[in-house]
Amino acid sequence: MNKNKREKEFYSVDVGDSTFTVLKRYQNLRPIGSGAQGIVCSAYDNNLERNVAIKKLSRPFQNQTHAKRAYRELVLMKCVNHKNIIGLLNVFTPQKTLEEFQDVYLVMELMDANLCQVIQMELDHERLSYLLYQMLCGIKHLHAAGIIHRDLKPSNIVVKSDCTLKILDFGLARTAATGLLMTPYVVTRYYRAPEVILGMGYQANVDVWSVGCIMAEMVRGSVLFPGSDHIDQWNKVIEQLGTPTQEFLLKLNQSVRTYVENRPRYTGYSFEKLFPDVLFPADSEHSKLKASQARDLLSKMLVIDASKRISVDEALQHPYINVWYDPAEVEAPSPLITDKQLDEREHTVEEWKELIYKEVLDWEERMKNGVIRAQVQQ
Ligand code: AMP
Repeated sequence: MNKNKREKEFYSVDVGDSTFTVLKRYQNLRPIGSGAQGIVCSAYDNNLERNVAIKKLSRPFQNQTHAKRAYRELVLMKCVNHKNIIGLLNVFTPQKTLEEFQDVYLVMELMDANLCQVIQMELDHERLSYLLYQMLCGIKHLHAAGIIHRDLKPSNIVVKSDCTLKILDFGLARTAATGLLMTPYVVTRYYRAPEVILGMGYQANVDVWSVGCIMAEMVRGSVLFPGSDHIDQWNKVIEQLGTPTQEFLLKLNQSVRTYVENRPRYTGYSFEKLFPDVLFPADSEHSKLKASQARDLLSKMLVIDASKRISVDEALQHPYINVWYDPAEVEAPSPLITDKQLDEREHTVEEWKELIYKEVLDWEERMKNGVIRAQVQQ
């Protein structure tokens, strides 16, 4: 396409402190959120005749952390197609050459709210269990592709008013430094599992801990483990759940173990104390049964020692959740990730710039050829 024609396809609009330069098909931009990567707007897509969300990644190649995340997301979004994981409707850059390349825009399905907003609402058992079921389905699908999230949190999960739910991102790369991420942006660690906080090895059920923290917050209406930093995060966990057993301590490396052993000892509280009946709707016998099932599920997810924590599959089979079980959702074919080195990649800014640019061009090509899911799942 010649340069002038391409230029005419775009227009610029100021949104907060940022300028969005988008394809003319997207109109009526309004900011709806912001995260570590940038600002998100809602917009009306004249071609699809529906509202969409547009996320601007400003100079995503500017440092290792941003670049790896943006690249990983672009690659993984191509492979993953599940109704509980956000799908891309379009990807574009307004710049015309690699030399000029600056920003990437991701167009996604528009959802109504993130989970932080939903947590403030009174949820009945039906909604609560359905939201959890969908989280677990999305997570299971990621796991099937070898993607262990490790950083699930309410701000990265979005919902619609019909109670459908989608996970927005793919979490931490295996090689991500969990302690020193993103400088100016405050990283939320409340939902990170003990094995992440303590720098231990981890397995897939690291994500079950996060679901447990999110569920607990939905029940309580406040953050379960609101640590002010890494150390305080651990304090909040042991104050409520109790100091872990010797068997767990032996799995820690020496310096972490010394630190953990030197914390004051806590006996913790029973789950009946942590999540008393008053927190649950208990207006009928059925609700009381549901409350006890919900508490049982919490007690199996919020287990410090991962080897004793419930797995995603077990959680999906739990009586509180399995009422929703649909094989088409739970056992969807696993996505194939072809780039096995995705998480190990280390590049210079210039190399990242080129890699990301190529991915954007590849997406643009796929869109043009209609390869992309017109099939994005509703
Ligand atoms: P992110 O940059 O992906 O972390 O998103 C930041 C915030 O923008 C989220 O917490 C949501 O509130 C909002 N958001 C992102 N994507 C969407 C979407 N597709 N639909 C609705 N809201 C979204």
